[in-house]
Amino acid sequence: MRETFTVSPVAVVHSCFKEKFGIPRQPGLAPEAKAIIELLPPFNVPDAVDGLALCSHIWVHFLFHGNHRQNWKPKVKPPRLGGNKSMGVFATRSPVRPNPIGLSVVALERVLLEYRGRDGVFLAIAAHDLLDGTPVIDIKPYLPYADALADARNDFALASPELLNVSFVDEVEQILTSWPEFKRLIGQVLSQDPRPAYQKGRSEERVYGMQLSHWDVRWRYLPHRNGLQRILVTELIERA
Ligand code: SAH
Repeated sequence: MRETFTVSPVAVVHSCFKEKFGIPRQPGLAPEAKAIIELLPPFNVPDAVDGLALCSHIWVHFLFHGNHRQNWKPKVKPPRLGGNKSMGVFATRSPVRPNPIGLSVVALERVLLEYRGRDGVFLAIAAHDLLDGTPVIDIKPYLPYADALADARNDFALASPELLNVSFVDEVEQILTSWPEFKRLIGQVLSQDPRPAYQKGRSEERVYGMQLSHWDVRWRYLPHRNGLQRILVTELIERA
């Protein structure tokens, strides 16, 4: 049976993550990561989300619209395996898959019927891993009694990855005193080590950068101390 189904977005994500590089590899890793899910017409009616505010978390089904010219392959090299071992695409959460559909469980902070002076339906979410502009194809409540499985195992991804220590040069520290939540977001995002697996473990001169919210964040890697690799945030530039 090879039927084709058509889905169209019910919502779009306005995210603090403006580019793919640096986005955590799963939701939950950066609790301070915020986004607004804006429901699109004709779904943006209060009736469609009646009762949703009772949930602390939601499942977001979305399209990996930012995958460019990448064809799926049966085997992929997940970053959690250091990028040098491969696994079956269906055994991983790789964004490059036959149907580019993603699934994230995220914290639902508020259901809003107005946002920045516009009426509609907007879901304020946190602890997400979604690129700005992501098309959302479905939203469902997280059901603890059915979805939280105390005996679940995954012997490939045993624990969350080790976190790097993140510090800031004085000038950046100074700017961030006015933005404590943003400082926490930078720490949570960079401590995951956004580099591709093949660059890990190297100490290098190279300066990395990502756009986070309306800021350009630049950092570099410091030599190991006590076996831990460290990140120094060197520059923060507000975008026009
Ligand atoms: N939690 C989801 C996504 C896992 S892959 C799932 O399991 O299906 C996570 C990566 O997807 C992030 O690091 C980010 O770079 C990428 N990503 C997020 N939104 C995307 C989008 N709209 N298009 C392409 N890639 C995206």
